[in-house]
Amino acid sequence: MRNILTLSCTECKRRNYSTTKNKRTTPDKLEFKKYCRFCRKHTVHKETK
Ligand SMILES: [Zn+2]
Repeated sequence: MRNILTLSCTECKRRNYSTTKNKRTTPDKLEFKKYCRFCRKHTVHKETK
């Protein structure tokens, strides 16, 4: 069971990444620190639906 989800930058709100996760093993909302090319720096990206 894989769920595709999108990661969006918390600063500019743009959706920069998509990834997959297993909802059963990781039920919590994910947060990744990733490079945002719109902010041109590393920002926290949160999962969206
Ligand atoms: Zn950004």
